[in-house]
Amino acid sequence: FDALKEKLQNVKKGWLGLGSLFAPGKKIDESFWDGLEEQLLLGDVGVDLTDELVAELRQEAKKSNIKDASALKEKFVDLIVRKLEEIPGMGKPIETKNKPAVVLLVGVNGSGKTTTAAKLASKFTSEGKKVLLAAADTYRAAAIDQLKVWGEKIGVRVVAHDVGGDPAAVIYDAIESAVASDADLVISDTAGRLHTKHNLMEELKKVKRVVERRLPEEPSESLLVLDAVMGQNAFYQAEVFNEALSLTGVILAKYDNTAKGGIILAVAQRMSLPIRYVGLGEGSEDLELFEPRSFVEALLS
Ligand code: GDP
Repeated sequence: FDALKEKLQNVKKGWLGLGSLFAPGKKIDESFWDGLEEQLLLGDVGVDLTDELVAELRQEAKKSNIKDASALKEKFVDLIVRKLEEIPGMGKPIETKNKPAVVLLVGVNGSGKTTTAAKLASKFTSEGKKVLLAAADTYRAAAIDQLKVWGEKIGVRVVAHDVGGDPAAVIYDAIESAVASDADLVISDTAGRLHTKHNLMEELKKVKRVVERRLPEEPSESLLVLDAVMGQNAFYQAEVFNEALSLTGVILAKYDNTAKGGIILAVAQRMSLPIRYVGLGEGSEDLELFEPRSFVEALLS
């Protein structure tokens, strides 16, 4: 928990106001509620959810007759955690029971897909799983190369074709290779050029179809990698990908780069999608499973 707290130091900036709002001895009056609302909005929680949280906390304070803000802090943490946990799959790790499990990482270019693929591969490798990476972003030579560099660094094999190849063929190969070598997990990078949105979605759907046909018994995962810095602008993208692929969750990358910690709440609520992992840096170890309570407590401490 301390390590997580330390890693979240940067992010905490956006929530500092909240910490002092809930200071011992601070009275709960109208200026408290105004301050809370302001801090939530500044932290990118979003208007609707801010209203909802403030209203529910007000009710709680009244019901339990709480007069001191510090006594309300725990209720606030509980309230946020409850909201997050209402969404099925929140904080759930990738399931590697089925062999091979397949995870497609999707998202716009620059969101952090390639890096996240490497981080996940590194995480599961260190847990003793056999992992394969698939370079299914066949449009960018740089993306293929970047994944290969990561693969070498973390000691994970990368299945790649030449630039311009068919991404569906890459994933097919990767699965064949995983089956042949008894691998536990295939993690696939994918393309993310959103200017050709329609084509991209058709391409990704085809990749997903290939996975489902090859492994009909085993549910694959399609996880959207979102750049936390995008703030409220992320939702439109998320909708497009979700419509095409029925996403099974979100990985929030670059959380270390935003001062607006509340994006976690907004993402979960606006998209009704579970957050599964959070990226906290550029290194292969900088990925944490999203545990709602640890995160919320660390942010408010
Ligand atoms: P892709 O185009 O979606 O594959 O994105 P990349 O994986 O290439 O990432 C784009 C940039 O974001 C790179 O410079 C990464 O090092 C950086 N990046 C990815 N994830 C994180 C993160 O969690 N924190 C920080 N600070 N940087 C990240």
